[in-house]
Amino acid sequence: MHGMMMHQPLSILEILRYAAGAHPGGEVVSARVEGDLHRESYAGAWRRAAQLAHGLAGLGIGRGDRVATLAWNGYRHFELYYGVSGMGAVCHTINPRLSAEQMLYILGHAGDRVLCVDLTFVPLVEKLADHLPPGLTLVALCAREDLPESRLELLAYEDLLAGQPENYDWPDLPEDTAAGLCYTSGTTGNPKGALYTHRSSVLHAMTVSICLSKSLCEGARVLPVVPLFHVNAWGLPYAAPLAGASLVMPGPKLDGASLFDLMEAEGVTSAWGVPTVWQGLQAEIAERGRHPEGLRTVVVGGSAAPRSMIEAFEAAGVEVIHAWGMTEMSPVGTHGLLSEPMQDLPFEERMTLKSKQGRRIFGVELKIVGEDGARLPHDGEAAGELFVRGNTVVSGYFGNEAASAEALDGEGWFGTGDVASIDPEGFLTIRDRTKDLIKSGGEWISSIDLENIAVAHPKVASCAVIAVPHPKWDERPLLVVVPKDAGDPPTLEELHAAMLAHVAKWQLPDDMALVEDLPLTATGKVSKLTLRARFADHVLP
Ligand code: ADP
Repeated sequence: MHGMMMHQPLSILEILRYAAGAHPGGEVVSARVEGDLHRESYAGAWRRAAQLAHGLAGLGIGRGDRVATLAWNGYRHFELYYGVSGMGAVCHTINPRLSAEQMLYILGHAGDRVLCVDLTFVPLVEKLADHLPPGLTLVALCAREDLPESRLELLAYEDLLAGQPENYDWPDLPEDTAAGLCYTSGTTGNPKGALYTHRSSVLHAMTVSICLSKSLCEGARVLPVVPLFHVNAWGLPYAAPLAGASLVMPGPKLDGASLFDLMEAEGVTSAWGVPTVWQGLQAEIAERGRHPEGLRTVVVGGSAAPRSMIEAFEAAGVEVIHAWGMTEMSPVGTHGLLSEPMQDLPFEERMTLKSKQGRRIFGVELKIVGEDGARLPHDGEAAGELFVRGNTVVSGYFGNEAASAEALDGEGWFGTGDVASIDPEGFLTIRDRTKDLIKSGGEWISSIDLENIAVAHPKVASCAVIAVPHPKWDERPLLVVVPKDAGDPPTLEELHAAMLAHVAKWQLPDDMALVEDLPLTATGKVSKLTLRARFADHVLP
C-alpha cells in the first residue's frame, strides 16, 4: 500500500532559498583573490545566483550543460554552486593542482561549455590555450576593471550578473537530475567523474549537518580549508547554509599564519581540512603560544589524522572530529565524534578512539570482506577490503563504461580500495589503501600505523612509509622522513624504539631516507605513487 504524503523532489536550490529566508544572520565571508574581505548574506547570494542563471542562460547554457570552475573558496564559487545546479546545468569543479594533461583530459571528457576562472589561475589557462576544447567560453571571476591583460578572450563574471533580474524562473527538476561533477585525482589511469545528483547532495547535506551538529549549527562560523574544487569542500557549501552556519572562505592564502588571522578576525568556530593543512596551523599555534580564540572543533579527513596531531588540539580544548570518506561518497562516510559514555573516558583512551576513523553517518552502510569475498566480522580485529552502500555513493562513473562496470560488487556495493576493520562499537579503522599496503612474506604491514608513530617523534616533521621491492620478502617498508631540524635528524634506531611499543619487530621499517619535503597529490595528500617511483631502486640494508 502506498503512503499518502506529498513528494517534493529534493533540490540543492531549496537549501539556499531556505537559508536566505530562515537564517537571515547567515553569511559568506570571503578573503578575495583581489586582496580584501567580502561579505554576502545568504539572501544576497540567493539574489546573485538568480542573476548568474540569467547571465549563463544568455551564454546559451541550459539543462544538462556542464559549467566548469577553476577557483578558490570564495563567494562567487559559492554562487556558481547554486546558480548552475539550480538552472538544471552541472557544476563541474576542476582541481587546479592537477597536471595540465589531466586538466585538458577532464575538460574534454566532461564536455564543458563554460570555464569560470579565478584570476590566480588565468596564467594556467593561458598555458593550455592552444589545446582548449573549441567553443569553450571563458569567464574570469572578477569585475571588468580587474580583468587582466591576457591573450585569452575573457568575460568578466560581474558583467554576466550586472543588470540582471534578482529572481529567476527556476525549473522544476526531477531529484535525480545531475547537479555536480567532480573527478577523482586519478593517481592511476585517467581521472574518473563522480556525477552527484540534487537528491544525493541534499541527503548528504542533511546527514552531515545532523551527524556533525557540534560543528554545524545556527550561529556557527565554519572555515572550509578543504577546497570547493575537490568533492564540494566535503559538502560544506550545502550543509552550512542548511544548518544556519556561516561560511568563512579563505581564498588562496592557506598558510598557518593567514588561517590563524582569518579565524580570529572572523570568530571561526570550526575549521575543516586535510592533515597537511593542520600541520601548518599547529606550527603557527606553537609559535604564538595560543589557539585562535573561539575555535572549538577541527574536522580532519582526506588522509589519516596522526594521533599526535589529535592530541595537540584536544589538549588545548579544541575538539578533533576525524572523518573518512571519498570523492565517490559525496564524500563523508564516517565521523569520529564519541558517543556519550565514551566522552567520560580517560584522555589516552579517548585519543585511541579518536585516532580511528569513526562511526558511519546515517544512510551509509559499511561491510568488510576477505580475499574470498566473504564478509568479515566487525570485531575490531579482522581486516578486509571496505565496501559501502547508500544514497550518497556513486553507482558508476560519468561517461566511463569500463570503470562503471567494475565499480560495484555483485551485491551492488562500491569497493573503496581501502583496507579496514570495524569494531563492535561500529568504529572504523582504516588500515591502509590496498595499493599502499606493504606485503611482506605473505603478511601485510600497515603504512598508516608506522607513520602515526614516527610522526609523533619530536625530531620528525612529517613522514611516509612505502613499500620497496625485496628479493626474499617481496616488499619491505622504507620510512621516508622530513626531519624537524636537518642538522639533528632522528636515527632509525630511535624511531624503531618508538615503534616497538606498538608493532611487531618484523613490521619495523628496514631503512630510513631523509628528505627535505614530501611530494603531495593534487588534493594535498602525500603522493606515495611519486615516492615509490623515486625509491624504486633503493637498496635496503
Ligand atoms: P583522491 O585522493 O584519489 O582524490 P579522495 O579524496 O576521494 O580521492 O580520497 C579518498 C581516500 O582517501 C579514501 O579511500 C582513503 O584511502 C583516504 N582517506 C580519506 N579520509 C581518510 C582518513 N580519515 N583516514 C585515512 N584515510 C583516509
